[in-house]
Amino acid sequence: SGLDNLAVSETTKLKSKNLDVLAEYKKVKHKNAANFVVIGHVDAGKSTLMGRLLFDLKAIDSRTMEKYKKEAEQIGKGSFAFAWVLDQGTEERERGVTIDIATNKFETEKTSFTILDAPGHQDFVPNMIAGASQADFAVLVLDASPGNFESGLRGQTREHALLAKSIGVRHLIVAVNKMDTVAWSQERFETVKTQTASFLKATRFDLDTTAFIPCSGLQGDNILNRTTHPAATWYTGETLVQALDAFEPVTHNLDRPLRMTIADVFRGGVQNPLSISGRIEAGSLQVGDQVLIQPSGEKAYINRLDLDNDDGEEVHEWAVAGQNVVLHLTDIDAIHIRSGDVVCSPTKSPIQNISRFTAQILAFNHLTPMTVDIHRGRLHVPGRISQLIGVLDKKTAEITKKKPKIVQPEQVVRVVVELERGVPIETGGRVVLRSGGETVAAGLVE
Ligand code: GDP
Repeated sequence: SGLDNLAVSETTKLKSKNLDVLAEYKKVKHKNAANFVVIGHVDAGKSTLMGRLLFDLKAIDSRTMEKYKKEAEQIGKGSFAFAWVLDQGTEERERGVTIDIATNKFETEKTSFTILDAPGHQDFVPNMIAGASQADFAVLVLDASPGNFESGLRGQTREHALLAKSIGVRHLIVAVNKMDTVAWSQERFETVKTQTASFLKATRFDLDTTAFIPCSGLQGDNILNRTTHPAATWYTGETLVQALDAFEPVTHNLDRPLRMTIADVFRGGVQNPLSISGRIEAGSLQVGDQVLIQPSGEKAYINRLDLDNDDGEEVHEWAVAGQNVVLHLTDIDAIHIRSGDVVCSPTKSPIQNISRFTAQILAFNHLTPMTVDIHRGRLHVPGRISQLIGVLDKKTAEITKKKPKIVQPEQVVRVVVELERGVPIETGGRVVLRSGGETVAAGLVE
């Protein structure tokens, strides 16, 4: 009843203990946490590969897997079973009935991983922009089979890699998938690797730290278990899981002001009528803290905090940059909170809303002063490129041509962007500009 709810919220409203969160954090030994996105051309096998990974690492139980297999076989699509593992999670999230997105998480001995924005969406690029802005690295999936690799290169493979790089993803793992379709030919693997390496180099990824792994998501070769295919003895490198585990987390921005972008907003629980999820990008927070939500400028209190990686049983008092959290909020109306909004401290360097900025961007298409949608992670807002200030030298960032009338694809240019309304964007933030459903540019706010 209403009265009961009132009683609950009155008794459970907590005061901040004013803990020194950084000192608390240093006391405990932590498992590494890493977020990644999965990118690549449609049908490259992204969903299948991730489904297999989750299955092999027992992040999905075999009964559920059996159920998917049966269902898939009934409609004559047995091989789709693994892909369904992920699609199921996506559907659940879209219906918004659950904040348990456990199917997108798995653990190795060293690290707990979160797969951001499972692939399979129709309109994948905006999702990818949202996901990649919180990613530590990306897994690029290629279809090694004849013809498909080549059409992927002309298709989304390149676009996704370019986007990931523009959004700030520094590190890549390349899964050369469907090796079963080419009888584990080393020659084919080398061809795919060489061609991919050359465009990744042009995109300025560091090839020294990029692993190329021949694998088969469908058959489970070189994912967790090393392939036993007789034709594959030439490969002695890492499995996908070993490559994932080799990831060294960047030390997150623990002592900077709090920043957290809201991934999802959940409403309607009896005990916790309003909660938000997301990854803390900088700083720390604790139960009882007051936070400011931008762009609305409304304040709220953190009443409870769940870490996304455990079963929700344990009580947590604080969390720091790098962790995925669910925050239960009080003293705010849900209409003031949307996915893409930024949570910060109301007193310690709060993020400001701005409606105009200059940015250094890489053009994917021809650019003129034009109408665009500006994406910053999950947040997007209509606006326009109002001025082309100058084309820049890619190495020195000096202006080589002032006030161009038009910018060619692959040129780097400094522009002025004006937004329809003020949104929380700061210097050094990554933005993606889209127009007519296509990505036209991406770069850095100056
Ligand atoms: P996505 O669009 O990238 O997520 O691709 P899916 O995971 O949906 O896979 C597309 C198709 O490729 C499906 O028919 C899969 O069964 C098939 N597939 C995926 N991985 C493999 C693989 O390693 N080997 C073979 N032979 N087929 C695969």
